[in-house]
Amino acid sequence: MSSHTTNHFDVIVVGLGAIGSAALYQLAKQGARVLGIDQYAPPHTLGSSHGKTRISRLLTGEGDVYAQLAQRTQAIWRDMAATTNRTIHQQTGGYFIAPQQQADKWHGDSGYLAQAQAVADRYQLAYEWLSAAQISSRLPLLNVTSHIHALYEPSGGVALPEAVIALQLQECGRLGAQVRLNEAVKYYKCDKKMLHVTSKAGSYTADRLILATGAWLTDLLPTRLHVYRQIMYWFETEEAGTFSADRFPWVIWLGETQRDFFTIFPTLGADSRTVKLMTEQYTTTTHPDTLTRTVAQHEIDYMIEQHIRPKMRGVTTCCVEAIACTYTMASDHHFIIDQHPDCEQITFAACCSGHGFKHTAAIGEALAQQALHGRSDIDLAPFSLARRHG
Ligand SMILES: Cc1cc2nc3c(=O)[nH]c(=O)nc-3n(C[C@H](O)[C@H](O)[C@H](O)COP(=O)(O)OP(=O)(O)OC[C@H]3O[C@@H](n4cnc5c(N)ncnc54)[C@H](O)[C@@H]3O)c2cc1C
Repeated sequence: MSSHTTNHFDVIVVGLGAIGSAALYQLAKQGARVLGIDQYAPPHTLGSSHGKTRISRLLTGEGDVYAQLAQRTQAIWRDMAATTNRTIHQQTGGYFIAPQQQADKWHGDSGYLAQAQAVADRYQLAYEWLSAAQISSRLPLLNVTSHIHALYEPSGGVALPEAVIALQLQECGRLGAQVRLNEAVKYYKCDKKMLHVTSKAGSYTADRLILATGAWLTDLLPTRLHVYRQIMYWFETEEAGTFSADRFPWVIWLGETQRDFFTIFPTLGADSRTVKLMTEQYTTTTHPDTLTRTVAQHEIDYMIEQHIRPKMRGVTTCCVEAIACTYTMASDHHFIIDQHPDCEQITFAACCSGHGFKHTAAIGEALAQQALHGRSDIDLAPFSLARRHG
């Protein structure tokens, strides 16, 4: 470890959202002298980690490395929850629903469910295939047609993103990490293996730098990323608790086209009278600073007509809340985590493409291992910038 001036650190982490706070926590845990900087005060509602819940699952049709990251993340969360006596993740089980006769497509891959099953077989994860009749009997609040089938994952759950980030930052403070909030980083430079970081409030140096700036990575990194506005909706339910996590699992409904894609998130709290719903869109790009944050009535109407009326029961058409969030994507829908092309002391990690949260604790651990020891237990090479991602 280095012994420089008070403004010199072993590692500086820029961006303290889901990934950055996880990396800072792991670095601090290993005794490194570390600084974390964020332009806001996470957990906040301006990045990609707000909205009360995130689906977690171990069945990852995206590939083996995702299964490794998801399993490791759940293990880290279990440890954190046990040592701090906090709830940050709850097991609910989860269903992927898809048309039977057609190769389902999601996250850039065709045949997503077959790949998820293959990953489950390789990692000995439990799963179950269900017919339309079995889905109807287990999930009577859904309207399913006979050509639908489902892959059920008992290990699925919901994570609480704001609670995870707050807990990681709390632990960073306890372990001696320095944290500067509401301090935007304006500039960084790699000079003779020393990193110089300039924020609106100060200048710092480090041996290593981790850029975990989420949707703002597009400002700091010379690569082509796409930021898409997505909306989360909370609709009132007819009865209290029907979609609460102890009674209802998550549902990822892969339709025949992108328009059919739809997700149901269980809500926390047995007395909740809402259910959270989402679609995804990949047609209009944006920037996190200029994102339209208000949700228009026609967007709410679309959710009602396209998804609630045809597919759900027990849900009213009263939308009690709707908020925007950003997905940051590479063209192949896979993560990008790599050294900076011009400076090997800088690592960037983002592009978590709408399915990153369930992997963030393990990504943070791998980033910390790489920064301190030059290698990580889980190989992040599949996320290299050099792969073909358009
Ligand atoms: C609506 C929605 C639903 C999702 N659902 C799921 C799900 O069900 N399951 C799942 O696994 N994943 C899901 N995801 C994806 C997951 O939530 C994200 O991939 C993950 O939270 C992103 O974390 P991050 O650390 O990359 O970004 P963020 O948490 O946004 O953190 C980036 C941080 O960098 C800071 N920053 C940026 N620029 C600067 C700067 N110049 N100086 C200082 N700080 C800076 C920002 O203020 C911010 O705090 C979803 C995402 C969205 C938007």
